[in-house]
Amino acid sequence: MILILGGTAEARELAAALHARGVSVTSSLAGRVSRPRLPAGEVRIGGFGGPDALARWLEEHDVHAAIDATHPFAERISASAARACAQAGVPLLRLERPGWDERPGDRWTWVEDLDAAAAAIPRLGARVLLSTGRQGLAAFAGVADAWFLVRCVDPPDPPLPPRHELLLDRGPYTLAGERALIEANRVDLVVTKDSGGEHTVAKLDAARERGLPAIVVRRPPRPSGVATVVAVADSLAWALARHDAG
Ligand code: NAP
Repeated sequence: MILILGGTAEARELAAALHARGVSVTSSLAGRVSRPRLPAGEVRIGGFGGPDALARWLEEHDVHAAIDATHPFAERISASAARACAQAGVPLLRLERPGWDERPGDRWTWVEDLDAAAAAIPRLGARVLLSTGRQGLAAFAGVADAWFLVRCVDPPDPPLPPRHELLLDRGPYTLAGERALIEANRVDLVVTKDSGGEHTVAKLDAARERGLPAIVVRRPPRPSGVATVVAVADSLAWALARHDAG
């Protein structure tokens, strides 16, 4: 069986491609969102209980190979997968979409983490589209001199910034939609993680068009020693080769 650590569009694409080829595939989701988009094939939901428990799971479920296709900011599960696969002797591939590149007209400020993003806000804008996701919003709770449009899939836990509006929504987002959102809310600053990919990039395209600044949170470091590809097709070829060998 091939295990995909998922929660991303690329993970769903890979699961669909393997399933369509008759390969036994299980996708693992963290269970963070209340109504996840379910991939093709088998799905299991919830944490494993750390790297040792994941290593046991790999052995018990006769996993031939694993693909870590989790989000670029999901640090803990990637570290856990690297340790567990090494421990259980299961080949591991990382599938990670490339980050976004600055283009002419962009006014980006790169920061290391959400705390640094919060600290940079007061000098860059007063009406913020905050699209860093539901987790970690406490970093912005102390920013009292800006108004926030907080966009996430499910309602976040407090604390949140004192002046905010919540927008529950999930991508993919269109350029026309992002333009309209920015205009209607008089947004003058976009704050985002460097998630990469096409599904959520339109906010940055809309900001560029309007000459607005953006704060972009850099990706965290990856576990070392894990082979990495950026294209779903390459991860598919790798998984099929492991499946055939198994
Ligand atoms: P994280 O901090 O790396 O993970 C925290 C814990 O959640 C892990 O230690 C693991 O628990 C469990 N977990 C995470 N992903 C899992 C998976 N695919 N299958 C089973 N257990 C998983 O991750 P996160 O940032 O909370 O993200 C959770 C999920 O949401 C990820 O799967 C990711 O692909 C997706 N996602 C994250 C973001 C983001 O910005 N972080 C954005 C979009 C989607 P145990 O230690 O108990 O195994």
